[in-house]
Formats: sequence, C-alpha cells, structure tokens
Amino acid sequence: MIGRFAPSPTGPLHFGSLIAALASYCEAKTQGGKWLVRIEDLDKPREVAGAADHILKTLETFGFEWDGEVIYQSHRNPLYQEALNQLQAASMIYNCDCSRKEIADSADHGIDGLIYPGICRHKEAIRTPSASRVIVDSKPIFFTDAIQGSIEQTLAQDVGDFVLKRADGLYAYQLAVVVDDFEQGVTHILRGADLLNSSPRQIYLQQLLHYPTPEYAHIPIANNANNEKLSKQTLAPAIDGSQASTVLKQALAFLGQDPPMDLVQCNPTEILQWAKQHWDIKKIPHQQSIVLS
Ligand SMILES: [Zn+2]
Repeated sequence: MIGRFAPSPTGPLHFGSLIAALASYCEAKTQGGKWLVRIEDLDKPREVAGAADHILKTLETFGFEWDGEVIYQSHRNPLYQEALNQLQAASMIYNCDCSRKEIADSADHGIDGLIYPGICRHKEAIRTPSASRVIVDSKPIFFTDAIQGSIEQTLAQDVGDFVLKRADGLYAYQLAVVVDDFEQGVTHILRGADLLNSSPRQIYLQQLLHYPTPEYAHIPIANNANNEKLSKQTLAPAIDGSQASTVLKQALAFLGQDPPMDLVQCNPTEILQWAKQHWDIKKIPHQQSIVLS
C-alpha cells in the first residue's frame, strides 16, 4: 500500500490541504503502508517562490514524516514525454491549434469547462505551436470511490478529447499525475472531492498506457462561509504552526474521526499517533464539500 500527498506550491498550506495530508497519511499508515509527498509544480507561472519549502516545513511542524525523497514534477518532463510518445505510437493523440475563441464558438459546457468537439481530429494542416489532445470514446468509465460511492462518466459526452500537453509546452496535470502515480507505485489515491471529476480521465489514461488503476477515495473539501473552496484565490489563511495541536484536532473532527476534547493537550506527534490508532475511513462524511463553522 502506497499513498501520497501532492500539493501545488501556489501558497502556504491552508486547512483544506491539511485535511488531505492528514487523511492520506492516516489511511496509508494504519495499513502499514508508505506515504509519499510530491510537489506538483508543473505550472511554473502560478508557483510562489519558497512555497514548496514552506509546505514541507509546515508538514514537519505538524508531525508528518514522509517516506523516501520528495518528488518535484518540474524535474520529470522526460517521463511525461515518454508517456506521450507511447500514446502517439498508439495513434491516440493528435495536434490541436484551436484558439480559445474557436473552441468557445462551437463547444457546449461539460462537467469541467467546455466539451472539446474534436475540431482538429481530422484537420490536415495544423498551425504551430499546437497542443496535444488524447482521443476519448463513448464507453462509460465506472469506478467505486471508497467515500463517494459509484461514479460513472462518459468522456466523449462529458469532457471531449482533452489536452495532455499545452501549446506552450507545459504537460497537463491529468497526464503528469497518472505517470507519477504509476512511476511511484501509488496504490491508494486519497484527495479532495474537487478532483472527483478528474478521476475518469485519469483512469482512461491508465488504461491507454497499460497502468494498473489505483483505489480512489475523495474526501469532502472544506468550504468557507461563502461556500467557496478554501484556496489561495478565496484568501484561505495559512495554517498556524504554533497552533498545530488545535488545528490537527479540528482536521480530525472535520474528517468525522471524533477526537476527544483533551487531545489538544498533546503534541502533534502524539495526535498523529492517536489518529493512526483510531482512523476509520468509513467515518468520513459522504459529502463532496462541507462548510467550515
Ligand atoms: Zn484544435
């Protein structure tokens, strides 16, 4: 069993990312597994200088210990290109030079932005630079999420052919995450439910690349009083290392684990010890989001 926590270094850790770290850590550690940390820093323009180091230091302050070395996606382009070449050899990708406007003029809205209508699938001459898209089909993708239950999605109808490498050369999140999880031997993916809609795309890529499909569990995301996901954009406050015990207890309560009142008297390492001993994934609320009170 190998789990992982994969933050993007776009700012300091906030409560929303802490619950994903805590839940993935407990789920892996209670089963005697490994817990990996991967920094998802593909999108360099969005990265905040020093944020990756700050995240790792905060994890340490909160008592987390990861297994092995921290992986940085920005160092792994050759692996992503190799996977892209494999899909190219299988004739599963094509180049696309559509502008945003061209797509917007002819596409409907799907579950995650516009459904790409396949404009460039059969186009003869493609301008450069161009993006690479993977060809999807109409066969429904099913999986059972350990928290959210049965999930079904039909990529052709809900998403359309999606981008694996952007015209500016950046590898897409969907490709990188699938390659990394496979390369790192990840067997259990536990993350926020905002990524639930991405899982069928990732399962589809695993199938095309002949990778095994891991187990999935999507925890509810933490929303602020305006029912917006905690994030840098919604000005979520950084979690406070000097209040680590209180924040960890709040995170365990958010995850339905019923921590006792006096747990806040313990240090972070002791709290994580308690969390591992009492962890029960079945107690996590079967919701996609919860407003923080
Ligand atoms: Zn196109």
